[in-house]
Amino acid sequence: MLSPKFDQLVKDLQILPSVGQKSAQRMALHLLSKNRSAGLALAQSLLVAMSEIKECTLCHSFSDDEVCGICNDIRRDDGLLCVVEQASDVVAIEQSGAYRGKYFVLGGHLSPIDGIGADDLHIDELVALAKSKVINELIIATGATIEGQTTAFFIHNALSTHIAKITRLAQGMPMGGELGYVDSLTLQQALHNRGVL
Ligand SMILES: [Zn+2]
Repeated sequence: MLSPKFDQLVKDLQILPSVGQKSAQRMALHLLSKNRSAGLALAQSLLVAMSEIKECTLCHSFSDDEVCGICNDIRRDDGLLCVVEQASDVVAIEQSGAYRGKYFVLGGHLSPIDGIGADDLHIDELVALAKSKVINELIIATGATIEGQTTAFFIHNALSTHIAKITRLAQGMPMGGELGYVDSLTLQQALHNRGVL
């Protein structure tokens, strides 16, 4: 064995998605032989992020403080609330640059098969939040999966008497997608959600 410490590093790197043994070895060798200072900076970033990033008490997204920067941002539309499954969905929508409202992270989706019910998500808090302030539009941006749809219907039923406008993200043709390569369910949705040119 060359170095048990090296082996441990390679093993630990493999907890990352899409990183197998070969990639992990390449990463470890690169840091050790070419860039130890960046490796130490990476270790420090991991330590700080893992021990200090918490959940925003209002929207349940990631935050350095009790309340996150988006919830605290007075320039964002407080009457527009986008409900997502995971904090990673907030990151994706933020990167699109197309949204200027607030968010609410459910912490997953309803899945009776896996024993995940409404009590396992932040649905009660969402309902309480929606009742405590004026929301002009609730955008349900759960996944385009059976579970995502079930979750969207559940939230709609819980809040339709309190919020006049509840919308769902459009589903349909991907950008650059050719009709022949799109599955029939997606095509059905695209036809159903078609818009005026
Ligand atoms: Zn927040």
